[in-house]
Amino acid sequence: MNTLSLITIPAFDDNYLWLLHNGANAIVVDPGDAVPIQAKLKELNLKLEAILVTHHHADHVGGVDTLRNATGAHVYGPAFEVIPEPVQRVGSADTVSVLGIDFTVMEVPGHTSGHIAYFHKGSNLHPTPLLFCGDTLFSGGCGRLFEGTPAQMLKSLSALAALPEDTLVCCAHEYTLSNLKFALAVDGANADLIAYEAHCQAQRKSGIPTIPSRIGIEKKINPFLRSHTAGVMASVEQYNATAKAATDVFAALREWKNNFR
Ligand code: ZN
Ligand code: FE
Repeated sequence: MNTLSLITIPAFDDNYLWLLHNGANAIVVDPGDAVPIQAKLKELNLKLEAILVTHHHADHVGGVDTLRNATGAHVYGPAFEVIPEPVQRVGSADTVSVLGIDFTVMEVPGHTSGHIAYFHKGSNLHPTPLLFCGDTLFSGGCGRLFEGTPAQMLKSLSALAALPEDTLVCCAHEYTLSNLKFALAVDGANADLIAYEAHCQAQRKSGIPTIPSRIGIEKKINPFLRSHTAGVMASVEQYNATAKAATDVFAALREWKNNFR
């Protein structure tokens, strides 16, 4: 079998849809819009085998019905969210086998209460570990807490941070530069962050996505994976002096980001 290729498909203003294929068959993740997916399938002459959904928001499921009707693709999605039916509902530690590789499902509530992520630990067909995490972890940031609690999101992000350092982080939005602006306000003495911000500025100037990122990079630069570090804790204390416990520090950091311009 052929090794797998990963393609980033921009959609709307700042979404990324993900397509993985072996030259004949493909899967897509979070197809908020069917149009750019169908164009890519046609261009590469691919048959859509499956659709993986991370959560129920329209910019992640808007193209599901059209793609399923056109291709007969099998749809996987979270157990407890409203997703266009029929969908095979998957949850913690379930395995999704597509294109000859296995994804382990992780429940990562916070952005929505049923949000899931799909993790492939690496194999002959795709040696680099691969994470599709929707709107949970972004490069330099994390999703807003629309349905979940800070404690849930902190636990979800900690589980993602425990994945192998070389894991490709395939998140669903190009929010990196605005996230890094906030990150620098919080963790401005972090040399890795300063260097990464300069790198991402250059990427965007050339019109190149900053995504996928890597877990190892995010652990060095993302304040939401670093809310336990001395630098981030000291900054959060300036914002909210009453935040001492880990969950409270994380909650204060998220609230600070919500109000940051
Ligand atoms: Zn969302
Ligand atoms: Fe989204």
